[in-house]
Amino acid sequence: MEIIKELELKNHTTFKIGGKCRIVAFPDTKEELLSLLKEYPDAIVLGSCSDVLISSLGVIEPIIITTNIKNFEFDKNIIKVECGAKGPFISKECQLQGLSGFEFMIGFPGSFGGMLNMNASAHNQAVSDYFKSAKVFSRKKKKVLELKKSDMDFEYRCSSIAKTGDILLEAEFELPDKDRNEIQELMDRNIEFRRLRQPSLATPNAGSVFKNPENDSAGRLLDMAGAKGMCSGGANVWERHANFIVNSGDATSLDVLTLIYKMIATVNDKYRIRLNPEIKYIGIKETEEYRLWELIKTQK
Ligand SMILES: Cc1cc2nc3c(=O)[nH]c(=O)nc-3n(C[C@H](O)[C@H](O)[C@H](O)COP(=O)(O)OP(=O)(O)OC[C@H]3O[C@@H](n4cnc5c(N)ncnc54)[C@H](O)[C@@H]3O)c2cc1C
Repeated sequence: MEIIKELELKNHTTFKIGGKCRIVAFPDTKEELLSLLKEYPDAIVLGSCSDVLISSLGVIEPIIITTNIKNFEFDKNIIKVECGAKGPFISKECQLQGLSGFEFMIGFPGSFGGMLNMNASAHNQAVSDYFKSAKVFSRKKKKVLELKKSDMDFEYRCSSIAKTGDILLEAEFELPDKDRNEIQELMDRNIEFRRLRQPSLATPNAGSVFKNPENDSAGRLLDMAGAKGMCSGGANVWERHANFIVNSGDATSLDVLTLIYKMIATVNDKYRIRLNPEIKYIGIKETEEYRLWELIKTQK
């Protein structure tokens, strides 16, 4: 397994933002991941780093990136998949097997660990739809547990492991059969939808900035409130969809936090609706970052 000291995380995140971390480990197997979790109980576990804003000031805790732990196997309609496997790759493998349910994953880079943590969804499908069970490492009990669907408490952009901090090792799904051409057509439509409405990864971003408020869309509210065109340093609200912040090249985490706060205030002033962030902020928070994050983070 590769372990790198003083690694700049910006080259590993889709936002292309993130300072130095003391230790970053890239385990190749679940067993290596487990031994790291025992050695570094406070480690932060990441997958594709596509839903995080990492502090430009760096991270003190060890980071574990799971994207080398990516085995999967089919047994009829059952697929067992490891935490670091990426959605688009597995989606394509399922299409080849004539198995439906993962078509929504084709257009964004999340790993299964990240997707199950936040119950990723799009195009009327969610990663929880055909979930059967998972093996997770319980940080509290310091052992591997098997969780059934009822243990996962899936809700919009949340799961039990997001609350407990437990680490997904592998998960099992039972997917329904479908004609391969129909699956491919749905995947093609999903890709086209994203091409028209979302920035590609060539324009660094971390997906939707805010969760959708109940029965509404964060993008619509931001657009109506005039957020398009707002910026802070190198961070800009994307000109074609106001729920995306793009990094024009030299954005810092402070630029992004400042802009997120401005976006929240703009919608709140106009509609009295409080937007809650979907992106997770990780790392060192000096005075201003700390102040902003306290104002931004999810309000109950
Ligand atoms: C262009 C773009 C489009 C996107 N579109 C969508 C979309 O349509 N729908 C959607 O839901 N999301 C979307 N996203 C966001 C993102 O891809 C998903 O949230 C994805 O699920 C995050 O996975 P990740 O591996 O990148 O997680 P990371 O960013 O690496 O981590 C996110 C969180 O998950 C935790 N985590 C990671 N691995 C594990 C593990 N093994 N066990 C427990 N916790 C873990 C981390 O600690 C962190 O809290 C998009 C992102 C981009 C950049």
